[in-house]
Amino acid sequence: MERIYLDNAATTPVTEKVLAAMLPYFTDKFGNADSVHYKGREAATGVDRARTTVAKVLGVSRAEIYFTSGGTEANNWAIRGIAEEICLKSGKNRIITSGIEHASVLSALSRAAELGVKTTILPVFEDGAVRPKDLADAMGDDVALVSVMAVNNETGVRQPVRELSQVARAGGALFHTDAVQAYRLDIKELASLSDMLTLSAHKFGGPKGAGVLFIRKGVPQRALIAGGEQERGLRGGTVNVPAAVGFAAALEESERIRVNEAERISELCELFEKLAAGAGGVHFNGRRDRTGVVNVWAEGVEDTSLLDLLDMRGVCCSAGAACSSGSPEPSHVLTAMGLGEGRARGSIRFSFGAATTRGDVTRGAEIFVRAVADIRKKI
Ligand SMILES: *Cc1c(COP(=O)(O)O)cnc(C)c1O
Repeated sequence: MERIYLDNAATTPVTEKVLAAMLPYFTDKFGNADSVHYKGREAATGVDRARTTVAKVLGVSRAEIYFTSGGTEANNWAIRGIAEEICLKSGKNRIITSGIEHASVLSALSRAAELGVKTTILPVFEDGAVRPKDLADAMGDDVALVSVMAVNNETGVRQPVRELSQVARAGGALFHTDAVQAYRLDIKELASLSDMLTLSAHKFGGPKGAGVLFIRKGVPQRALIAGGEQERGLRGGTVNVPAAVGFAAALEESERIRVNEAERISELCELFEKLAAGAGGVHFNGRRDRTGVVNVWAEGVEDTSLLDLLDMRGVCCSAGAACSSGSPEPSHVLTAMGLGEGRARGSIRFSFGAATTRGDVTRGAEIFVRAVADIRKKI
């Protein structure tokens, strides 16, 4: 059976171009980037070039780019580092985030709370967005860090990063943004608004297990992984050279097609919404920002039966974040938006990427409409 892949917020295929850039670093240029001989220099050159490319796209300096094993590690690093380097050492003992963050931010923050860090979780509303006014009300002299994502991975809703960053910085706090789903926005601008910023390669055509944490110069940080002198002593372990090279190649390509893609993806979202509405009694979760995610609920569907039926009929989509699927709990994002438990359980996330065609979207929506009708008949 033909499979229609509409789960690009979970992951995307590695492009041919990225694969070709990575391959030599597995075999011919296999060196340890820290070795002082020729083979080491060859690998180090690959990492150096990758770092330069990423720094250029973000408009920051090379020394501010740290390669990680992905978005999850980068988010853990951003939160835990500030918790340990600032919160537990000074009167600035509080971190503020939102209720719709990725599990890696929320879990890292729970760990920090166990160590004695105070936390504030900002509310979101039915539109799926954080209000800068709520951040302003929550601010105080004791806040070390504000961390709010740029685009939510379950709803595609853009968060008001510019305003949030202004409020955080005016209040003397640092600002971190999880920009993993924001690669179709102006990342340079996002970086300029941030003191730390997280990216992950596999969401934009790069390999899994490859991420970046941008840490602005002067931001107190400590190693998440203690070890050698790699990544300026802040991230121990032999550098994953193919991953760094693949990250940079994917980011460069994503940036090159970004403006056209943002427009095309927005049209795909609109098309999907129009066709899916044909099922009747259909509600879209969150403001329709058309960043590449359509999160939809069809009345009468209050469990994962629709998701299972779509999979059986060849459509790959999800009930929310891939990392929390398999969990019996309804999505924490939809719940934080105030949606009822049944709606949160029955909602489906469709997400589009560079490899998604109009045909995929049209067929996916048609199958959705038929599957909804079939489920309703059985009820
Ligand atoms: C996928 C994702 C992550 C985690 O990135 P990994 O590289 O898969 O660990 C973090 N935040 C958001 C918003 C994501 O979509």
